[in-house]
Amino acid sequence: MKTLGLIGGMSWESTIPYYRIINEAVKERLGGLHSARIILYSVEFAEIEACQVSGDWARSAEILSEAAVKLQQAGADYIVICTNTMHKVVPEMLPKLQIPIIHIADATAAALKKQGMKKAALLGTKYTMTQDFYKQRLVDNGIEVVVPEAGDIEIVNDVIYNELCRGEIREESRRQYAEIISKLKEAGAEGVILGCTEIGLLVRAEDSVLPVFDTTVIHAARAAEMALED
Ligand code: GLU
Repeated sequence: MKTLGLIGGMSWESTIPYYRIINEAVKERLGGLHSARIILYSVEFAEIEACQVSGDWARSAEILSEAAVKLQQAGADYIVICTNTMHKVVPEMLPKLQIPIIHIADATAAALKKQGMKKAALLGTKYTMTQDFYKQRLVDNGIEVVVPEAGDIEIVNDVIYNELCRGEIREESRRQYAEIISKLKEAGAEGVILGCTEIGLLVRAEDSVLPVFDTTVIHAARAAEMALED
């Protein structure tokens, strides 16, 4: 079994399910007392968020690159970045690494295609929903992407940073997300990507009129699969 190097803490609330899902997948495949080989580098999220707000992506790329290099030195075979948003700095990280990064958007696109989805709604941080680094990767993988209207982008983003990343789950926010997903269905989406690793803590399958693609579950499952590949 290969060793997975997780860059977590973005936020730590969503790193917990990664650890659980990867171990459950290994247990399911190998049985008995088997568990995953994992090294976790958990960052200080306030520092990362401050870089996002000030637009200092270069500094956040340095922080994540340093984390990835340390994981590589510690024996990781793959890097797993436990957030969608920070995949923005993957191009800056890659030249510093000899090991691959398991890309969350590639895993998500593959999961969508497996279910025959061609057009998907994308919920995530405002960076993920409005910038190209993530959407384009989905498009390159053959998935058409629909995002919420401007006001709804603000709501989805605020709930992520002001509630979910702080461990707060509010019924009112769940209702707002459900409404936004309904609008995206009207706009032609066949499924909805929970394109932020905390959204799965709020939105359950039964809250959504569209089939849900939770990037935390998809990414963690893909990482476990790669760790177990021959
Ligand atoms: N975990 C979130 C994501 O998947 C947002 C937190 C972050 O900014 O990294 O995008």
